[in-house]
Amino acid sequence: MSIPDITIYNTLTRKKELFEPLNPPHVGMYVCGPTVYGDPHLGHARAAIVFDVLFRLLTHLGYKVRYVRNITDVGHLENDADEGEDKIAKKARLEQLEPMEIVQIYTDSYHKSMDMLNIRHPSIEPRASGHIIEQIKMIQDILDNGFAYEVSGSVYFDVVKYNASNNYGKLSGRVLDELLENTRDLTGQEEKNNSVDFALWKKAQPEHIMKWPSPWSTGFPGWHLECSTMSSKYLGDYFDIHGGGMDLLFPHHECEIAQSQAANGNDPAKYWIHNNMITIDGQKMSKSLGNFITLEELFTGSHKLLTQAFDPSTVRFFILQAHYRGTLDFSDSALQAAEKGLKKLLNGIELAKKLIAADASTSDISKLKAACIKAISDDFNTPVLISNLFEAVRITNSVYAGEEKISPDDLKMLNSLFADFTTEILGLSNDQNQQGDELIDPLMNLILDIRQASRANKDFATSDKIRDVLSKLNITTKDEDGGASWTYES
Ligand code: ZN
Repeated sequence: MSIPDITIYNTLTRKKELFEPLNPPHVGMYVCGPTVYGDPHLGHARAAIVFDVLFRLLTHLGYKVRYVRNITDVGHLENDADEGEDKIAKKARLEQLEPMEIVQIYTDSYHKSMDMLNIRHPSIEPRASGHIIEQIKMIQDILDNGFAYEVSGSVYFDVVKYNASNNYGKLSGRVLDELLENTRDLTGQEEKNNSVDFALWKKAQPEHIMKWPSPWSTGFPGWHLECSTMSSKYLGDYFDIHGGGMDLLFPHHECEIAQSQAANGNDPAKYWIHNNMITIDGQKMSKSLGNFITLEELFTGSHKLLTQAFDPSTVRFFILQAHYRGTLDFSDSALQAAEKGLKKLLNGIELAKKLIAADASTSDISKLKAACIKAISDDFNTPVLISNLFEAVRITNSVYAGEEKISPDDLKMLNSLFADFTTEILGLSNDQNQQGDELIDPLMNLILDIRQASRANKDFATSDKIRDVLSKLNITTKDEDGGASWTYES
């Protein structure tokens, strides 16, 4: 595919802009990853899938994308006012484990779910705790430039002073005077000059476990700092795309911009992209409302709001059916509808491979292809792309039924359209998670035939061995009248 004009809605400028990489064909992309103190949930899935599609699209078009997605393993406190316990340290205390054991458990859990959702691995996945030296250096730069102050071993960013020469709020649209008005109460954060100031370094209390020496105290970095240091380390001081969920827009991303400007006089990124949130039956997802659904619960159907287990590819398709900037309301029935829709799409792809071409076409496939390219290039409009793919399925079914005809060239284009857009860019395919692979089915039939034959010959050693090995592989066999069948439980 030649490179089309891509437009991106830039949160920073609040308008759609033509995507022009700073240093083509290279593209630097940084996306805020998870704080690893719990199992990944639907919110994690949406952010990861949205930026996976962007990564896939740009790579497919020939860009050399360096995609950095971090793991937050230190410094994320329980509230945005830099108070409360570190989320990971708290979980470690409750579970009586080392903080790094918590980090390992939930990083593994995150990776497992992301693999099941067919999300490509980022190019680099740095951890905050592995970049303490870089964070100390950046704090020093901000102090040297006069935009931070030290109090009793902690260092805070001076938002009011920064705003005198810069625009704090330019990303989120917040106005500093209003923020000061609304958060005048400094209870519990008396060290700060102003309530809007945020921590760059916090002195650790004696009982605090994750702490490092620094010029100011033994302590730990503020949460916003890691993304500023890791993005500039791997992508440079000014790179192409910075992404994340809309919940990170303020204060996290606003503070990232302030830190970069204060340290080196640069905005960190040219394009800021934010995906919207997921609601559950119209409500915000929260533990207190009992509607907090982890991906594990979705894939196994073990949550009380679910009537069945859902395949990861169904969850992926469900998320891509909505535009990334719109809210997406999740429900059991919406997922069931997505399951049917995906099945129809994937069946269409399989059927298209079997079509027989005629001398001429009755549908305009090149026009359909152009519509697919236009949709994905227009601020990654996946719902419009999917509706065009369903039109391709409709044509496929009509040709198969003999109601329409397709030329050899158009048939080739139809199949490559499915391969490019459905499999490659949207990352939707059957073989990822489901049984019934082209090779597996005949092989399993052969094994079951041998087992049947050995039983008929009273060679129970062989038939028992086959059953035991299959059972170890989580494959259950069932003998039926016409032969044997099998199921696989992952
Ligand atoms: Zn971040």
